[in-house]
Amino acid sequence: MKSMPVIFIGHGSPMNMVLDNEYTRSLTALRDRLPLPKAIVIISAHWQTSGTHITDSPNPRQIYDFYGFPQELYDIRYEPLGAPPVARKAHKLMGGEAEGVLLDDSWGDDHAGWAVLKFLYPNADIPITVISVDMEAPASRHATLAQRLAPLREEEVLILASGNIVHNLFDADLMNENAPPDPRGLRFDALAKSALETGDLDSLVHYERWGGDARYSVPTRDHYLPLLWAAALKKEHDSVTFPCEVMQNRSVSMRSVVFGL
Ligand code: ZN
Repeated sequence: MKSMPVIFIGHGSPMNMVLDNEYTRSLTALRDRLPLPKAIVIISAHWQTSGTHITDSPNPRQIYDFYGFPQELYDIRYEPLGAPPVARKAHKLMGGEAEGVLLDDSWGDDHAGWAVLKFLYPNADIPITVISVDMEAPASRHATLAQRLAPLREEEVLILASGNIVHNLFDADLMNENAPPDPRGLRFDALAKSALETGDLDSLVHYERWGGDARYSVPTRDHYLPLLWAAALKKEHDSVTFPCEVMQNRSVSMRSVVFGL
């Protein structure tokens, strides 16, 4: 049986859920190429914790974790079943409580997950579990934990990391999706692309070495860290493709990456 691919999606503004643009068209095109997995493990930039938490609810709630947007976004229903056996397997693979990894059904499916999956698997018929980002752990720890999930790829489980490589909301022009991108973000995005292509996980983990461009592009780590989970799961001979490479709102990279498809 073929390994499941690993995906990182730059999800950007919640408005994308209801827009027809280059980003959303890249998702619908990707939908036609993806296999049907048994379950999906989401690494969510929006579930920020101390330690690594995993939802194990059989019915994870849909979370509308965005505010002040048009009502039509809040009317979207996307409610797949949970995947408790996969959650327990992921928990065990990552080392369980002894490694600070906790099963926790207090969260659910926030918009880092469902706003993307509504395009990729619109029928909401694939069970999901969600993994948080540990905001206290060093970047290298995220890569280490991710690598422990590698056996899931051989068990028909799709791993979807959702964040943004460049995510500077302090400088974003939220009113203008097509605002000209800042050169610092463009440079950082290009460095990340190059490291992804060559499998240079070390450079991605130590992104601070990219200096001022890194400080501009990753002012907080929450949206960058999911990228490390995807990159760490790349196998040596996995193909690397970029279904979307646009920037939005001046300072948000919508770059997505697919390994092994
Ligand atoms: Zn986000």
